[in-house]
Amino acid sequence: MSQTIAVLRGDGIGPEIMQATLRVLDALDCGFHYEFFEAGLEALDKHGTLIPKETLEAIERHRIALKGPLTTPIGKGFSSINVQLRLHFDLYANVRPAISFPGTRSRYDDIDLITVRENTEGAYLSEGQSMSEDGETALSSIRVTRKGSERIVRYAFELAQQRGRKKVTAVHKANIIKSSSGLFLDVAREVAKEYPAIEFEEMIVDNACMQLVMNPHRFDVVVTTNLFGDILSDLCAGLVGGLGLAPGSNIGENVAIFEAVHGSAPDIAGQGVANPCALLLAAADMLDHLGMQEKANRVRGAIRSVLKSSAEQVTPDLGGKGTTETFADALVAHI
Ligand code: NAD
Repeated sequence: MSQTIAVLRGDGIGPEIMQATLRVLDALDCGFHYEFFEAGLEALDKHGTLIPKETLEAIERHRIALKGPLTTPIGKGFSSINVQLRLHFDLYANVRPAISFPGTRSRYDDIDLITVRENTEGAYLSEGQSMSEDGETALSSIRVTRKGSERIVRYAFELAQQRGRKKVTAVHKANIIKSSSGLFLDVAREVAKEYPAIEFEEMIVDNACMQLVMNPHRFDVVVTTNLFGDILSDLCAGLVGGLGLAPGSNIGENVAIFEAVHGSAPDIAGQGVANPCALLLAAADMLDHLGMQEKANRVRGAIRSVLKSSAEQVTPDLGGKGTTETFADALVAHI
């Protein structure tokens, strides 16, 4: 039976980059069946909610979703849909690879590292935010659990093992945030003992930032809590030429959602110049997740050869003069 993918086009540049991504997947003959569901601004206009129940049920049913970026309307009462989806489906592992591609504006070549970010706890709790009555003091709490830390660190080691990676670095701030970051580090040390063949390293987050900028090749798999992972993975995207090439997978026990790390880019939406590669690389990670490694590698290979040989056809963020469509044409031709 063919795999059904729940597709959320997203808003802003979402529909443009989704169309390009699906064209490339179709050229690969993956045999997927797509079902399209509303979320974000489109859903808010039509149904008064950012994520209709039908969309949640469809993701639950199909277990695999490919998702365009979704705008979080500014203002009270709207919590991020992305955070809501991660919590609703308990998508505890946010996997963000940073891989060098030729011809991109970057200080380094040959970067190949993966950030594994805890995606459901840490500092990203809506119930952990409060403001004093006089509006002078705000308090944000951090929740870290043994269970949450154990499963994310184990996920990072399992991923390292499966992909032949050599080292896992646990990034923390246990010297200052002693309770929550301390618990995460204690658990990381315990779980690391179960994987003696993989080197374990621990690093304080400020040092990790400096080391990533000065000497990124020393890293392999980085595992960390929610906020640090969010920041570090953008830093890593910067090491390989920016957000246009940064995919992210949100993985839970039952459901996995694949998306670009970047947002809906309202400043360029509708102009046809958005780079589809971050979403396309997320689709490649989805193919890996579904055991279709050969096709996943063909997607990455096509991006590599287009960046090498057809620089004119790529989008302006990568230094080209092309459009989303010419980029997709070139990708299809190189698949
Ligand atoms: P953004 O990532 O949308 O844009 C930042 C900058 O990068 C902009 O200049 C944009 O033009 C550029 N950019 C982003 N993606 C690009 C692409 N594919 N090709 C070319 N240029 C690209 O960040 P933002 O402006 O801070 O956020 C806009 C909206 O997106 C907000 O509502 C935010 O909440 C939402 N957002 C959603 C997600 C998600 O759905 N996972 C992630 C981040 C932000």
